[in-house]
Amino acid sequence: MRRTSPLILGAGPAGTAAAIRLAQGGAQPLILEAQVEKGDAICGGFISWRTIQSLEALGLAADDLPGHPVSRVTLFCGNSVGETPLPAQAMGISRYLLDRMLIDRAVSAGAGIEMGVAAKALHEDGSLSLKDGTTLAPESLFVATGKHDLRGLGRGRFDDPAVGIRVRLSPHATLGRLVGGAIELHLFEGGYAGLMLQEDGSGNLCMAVRKSRLANAGGSPQALLSVLGEAHPHLAERLAFLPSDASIDAIAAIPYGWRTSETRPGQFRLGDQAACIPSLAGEGNGLALASGIRAAEAWLDGGATASCDYQRRFADATWRPVSAARTLWHLAESEGSGKFLIKATQSAPFLAKVAASLTRIGH
Ligand SMILES: Cc1cc2nc3c(=O)[nH]c(=O)nc-3n(C[C@H](O)[C@H](O)[C@H](O)COP(=O)(O)OP(=O)(O)OC[C@H]3O[C@@H](n4cnc5c(N)ncnc54)[C@H](O)[C@@H]3O)c2cc1C
Repeated sequence: MRRTSPLILGAGPAGTAAAIRLAQGGAQPLILEAQVEKGDAICGGFISWRTIQSLEALGLAADDLPGHPVSRVTLFCGNSVGETPLPAQAMGISRYLLDRMLIDRAVSAGAGIEMGVAAKALHEDGSLSLKDGTTLAPESLFVATGKHDLRGLGRGRFDDPAVGIRVRLSPHATLGRLVGGAIELHLFEGGYAGLMLQEDGSGNLCMAVRKSRLANAGGSPQALLSVLGEAHPHLAERLAFLPSDASIDAIAAIPYGWRTSETRPGQFRLGDQAACIPSLAGEGNGLALASGIRAAEAWLDGGATASCDYQRRFADATWRPVSAARTLWHLAESEGSGKFLIKATQSAPFLAKVAASLTRIGH
């Protein structure tokens, strides 16, 4: 049967992974990306060993990824500090660089991409409106718009949702010594801040905080950073490398823990639009790549009608990592249980390894 080319919305890890695998399988996918030029997505940039395997499956060898090596996790909560090795080597890489590498790979595999073209709404009959007024009727649509919902395909509203905030700390020898090869998780009431060095030696400080916590701190990311800096000396030591004119990126209402097994024939939901794993686990990029690969393989085998089966299977595959990550996130966002987590991982380091493997997506 003749198949028309799949249309992919979004050039993040999910959309580009689907494009690479579809093009490798002989299809001619087209990606529509809302941004005119790909920016640096709000993301901690932690690339787990499992995510590295998916990148390798897409033809991006670990040795070609110029990320900063990360081999341990350091937890901070009040005065408690605990450190434990990761089960395998991970890395810190900016999403700016990672997304560029994935787009280049997709294009060299034969995918097309149009930048600055934003989808606006998806209609009951399967047609798609673009912001420029065009209407399309794709037979196969891969929805990989990540953090941004399309009208007609929302993920619902959540009580006191998480807000994502990201700042960059300037590269400095002292910052390099403080953080080294660790992914740092600074736990506090109502949220956490993750910090890691990236390819250029800068620190990517990425936080997920409850909306109510942000409101209590004065409502602005700047106010929150200064309240946290006063209460948490380890974090304050690192915030000393925040340039005075630093820009602060933020994203509201992240539906952590949401997953779906439902879709319509011809519509494949990928990445955060399929399952939104709490970022503390550092596996959102891994889930996004895995969804893109699996959806593309389902399409190559069965065409547009394979979407419902793919969506059910992907929802099953993400149940364990998303549930485990949600439990960890809830434990980490209260100071009492955060300190308990540190004690537990120090007295029984295997617990950290168990948590790390439960929050990865299976093969
Ligand atoms: C605070 C925070 C920290 C995180 N830290 C980590 C981490 O350290 N490690 C990790 O693995 N994961 C982390 N994550 C999760 C990770 O960022 C996401 O899971 C991942 O980006 C999902 O990839 P995606 O391709 O689905 O979406 P995205 O990366 O969001 O990409 C979506 C793309 O679609 C485009 N787009 C959006 N709307 C439209 C539209 N209407 N039309 C066309 N294009 C559109 C966007 O411009 C974007 O390029 C973090 C998330 C947050 C919020």
